[in-house]
Amino acid sequence: MTERIDLRSDTVTQPTNAMRAAMAAAPVGDDQYGEDPSTNRLQARCAELLGKEAAVWLPTGTMANQVALRTLTRPGDEVIASRESHAAWHEVGGAAANAGVQIHEIGERGRFSADELRAAVKPRNFPIFPTTTLVEVENTHNRAGGVVVPQADVLQICAAARELGLATFLDGARLWNASAASGRAVGELAAPFDLVAVAFSKGLGAPGGSLLAGSKALIAAATRHRQRLGGAMRQNGIFAAAALHALDLHVARLPDDHANARAFAEALAASAPVQLDLATVQTNIVVFHLPAALAIDAPTLSTSARARGILVNAFGPRTVRAVTHLDVTREQCERAAAVLAEILAKEG
Ligand SMILES: *Cc1c(COP(=O)(O)O)cnc(C)c1O
Repeated sequence: MTERIDLRSDTVTQPTNAMRAAMAAAPVGDDQYGEDPSTNRLQARCAELLGKEAAVWLPTGTMANQVALRTLTRPGDEVIASRESHAAWHEVGGAAANAGVQIHEIGERGRFSADELRAAVKPRNFPIFPTTTLVEVENTHNRAGGVVVPQADVLQICAAARELGLATFLDGARLWNASAASGRAVGELAAPFDLVAVAFSKGLGAPGGSLLAGSKALIAAATRHRQRLGGAMRQNGIFAAAALHALDLHVARLPDDHANARAFAEALAASAPVQLDLATVQTNIVVFHLPAALAIDAPTLSTSARARGILVNAFGPRTVRAVTHLDVTREQCERAAAVLAEILAKEG
């Protein structure tokens, strides 16, 4: 049987034996009553790490985004976010269905400036415009290839938001990666925002879970919206223990994933006629495009690669995403690049 190298996402990781042992040993209680000691520990630890008063566990990053939008807006409002943000592209229209808001995507390649934000905000008190109430930043930016949003941009965006009377939300599902790549603590990256989401199920390798951090008042409101969406869990300490274990052991190894993504990207860019901007390879995600001159499209490349044990995501008709994580080695990443290059040489 051919070896399987799964680069579809950093969500495909298996919990390590040590993580499973930590989960098995976790003290638990009913988290809907606030009585799960492991969840309480995780929430307190993350609130402190992120420099916020309080934090609340959520089963998924998608629900964290849905709850954040619902907490910081009212139905009919408009949210400004980066182009191709997760909340606009990967949540089945949840922003509209659950929070009742529309998302206005601005900027490019995961970034936008404070001036672009100012230009996008609809004037208040006009009889025809939606009220712009929230700006969201995604860091790292998934569809833009895991790029880190420069903190100077973030500071200007959030300062402009305060001037304009907008709330601020950071979708930091991969904030740990942004921190590892930039050398800035997650607390510094989170500081300018009202609410911050982080995930444990991506690069940290836990089997599930996200969390929102912010002021006590916002987290109390978010906790009610979590309940409304059916996201309050019971003996959640089993999950929280995995997240605590990941904070202890898996944050420090993220630079390995970043180096492996770079090795994969450099090997692929050197050996195949793909459009791959190496400047975007800043963390553990590699997004590349198949130029129109190639006969093969992304779904076909993904299917051919799968037959040879290499799993990558067709992210669009001619866009492919590969993500490194704790279950793939440097050698496997290099092998994956070589196999993709062979397929492109044959079928491209
Ligand atoms: C994966 C992801 C989410 C959603 O997390 P899930 O746990 O998969 O629901 C939200 N935002 C970003 C930027 C992501 O990459």
